[in-house]
Amino acid sequence: MKQDSLEMERSLEKLKEILHRCVKCGRCRAVCPVFTALGSEPAAARGKLALLEAWLRAGRRLRGRRLQEVLSLCLLCGRCTANCPNGAGAKEAVELARSIMAAQGGLAWTKTLLSCFSSLHREARDPWLKAAGFFQRLVMRELPMERGLVLRLSATELGELWAPKIKPPFFLERHAQKLGKGPIRVALFAGCTIHYLAPEVGQATLGVLDRMGFEVLIPGGQGCCGLMAMGMGDKPRAARLARKVVEDFAMEEIEAVVVPCASCAFQLSRGIPQILNDDPMGPRARLLAAKVKELSVFLLEQQALSLLPKNQGASHRGTVAYHDPCHLALGMGIREEPRKILKGLRSRSFRELDSPDECCGMGGTFRVFHPDAAASISWRRLQSLRKAKVNEVVTGCMGCWMGLKEMLHRGSEEIRVRHLGELVWEELEKEKRAGTQQGG
Ligand code: SF4
Ligand code: SF4
Repeated sequence: MKQDSLEMERSLEKLKEILHRCVKCGRCRAVCPVFTALGSEPAAARGKLALLEAWLRAGRRLRGRRLQEVLSLCLLCGRCTANCPNGAGAKEAVELARSIMAAQGGLAWTKTLLSCFSSLHREARDPWLKAAGFFQRLVMRELPMERGLVLRLSATELGELWAPKIKPPFFLERHAQKLGKGPIRVALFAGCTIHYLAPEVGQATLGVLDRMGFEVLIPGGQGCCGLMAMGMGDKPRAARLARKVVEDFAMEEIEAVVVPCASCAFQLSRGIPQILNDDPMGPRARLLAAKVKELSVFLLEQQALSLLPKNQGASHRGTVAYHDPCHLALGMGIREEPRKILKGLRSRSFRELDSPDECCGMGGTFRVFHPDAAASISWRRLQSLRKAKVNEVVTGCMGCWMGLKEMLHRGSEEIRVRHLGELVWEELEKEKRAGTQQGG
């Protein structure tokens, strides 16, 4: 209890420091996707900081529906922090304020439910998602649209929210094991989206690592990285999840923890050491963070480009663009690595978008709680993709992967959303097949 109030005091102090640094110049308004979409001052970082300042100056506790609503209007994309001339750290202020609010006044029940669910052990979550997958297939695919049940459940909205499909058997059910035998041993952190919705991305990543000659450990009990709980302000659950990640992955015998999702990579390398800073597990969390490698960074460091085919071959697959995930480009400063890999693919031509780091509007749970604002944000991304006339858009974040898929689904676009690992795997497979044909 004493520890909790000490932490609360520290968070309040940090928040006040940020508020003090903000001179209300308004530069953050120009870069904020939520402000661009809604055009109201509270949507921008400056409006949020001004409101928090007024609240604290009046000696009020951080609670109440109005404050909750304003603070939820943030994707935590980090553009305000990256573009602030005074280094105020507005994104960090929103995170701090959310965690103080959650501790003081409790989370909204919807967020509590989401956070609780994300913090369940994987084995406890899997059956729920299987049931949801069954329900999804029943309602969305197997019942005719004119059936009463479909209409009562507002199937169109459900369809938009639930795309992409839940895909049992889940990734870790099939792949929790040790794969290959090689001089260098790495571990794979799959993340929830790959486990439940995109096993093909996990399989492609595994295929690439195996082909490169690594021994890959895939801890079967691994769960959520905790980014979603953290983003909602639920620090206690985020800390619990962080400890589990450290238990599962802080192994001395591994050289690297490869993470195919940029948001999970951000959380494992930046978020977890921060949450567990004063925890007895802090030193192990920092050790783990030093070994975390986002997939594109790992592939480049390990010379994956040298394995790719050198000639274009007969089957050129069109033009591909890259979508920068906020957590990777702004959060970790990684922009060049994925581009270098894409430019190294002979089966595709790379085309830069006119606004490469436009947000997709996903922002953790932002799309769930603010679907209209999210749709308006993603509309800008859709326009730049249409203008570029590409066949595929690649990203390295599973949140963006979902956001882009939903956006293209709504826009009825033919553009396919791919993960970097899938394209590299396709290219390696193509090379292997060509080698077999030549040999045979
Ligand atoms: S957060 Fe930075 S950019 Fe935004 S109003 Fe404050 S000082 Fe200006
Ligand atoms: S983190 Fe992004 S969405 Fe949130 S206030 Fe800053 S710029 Fe706007």
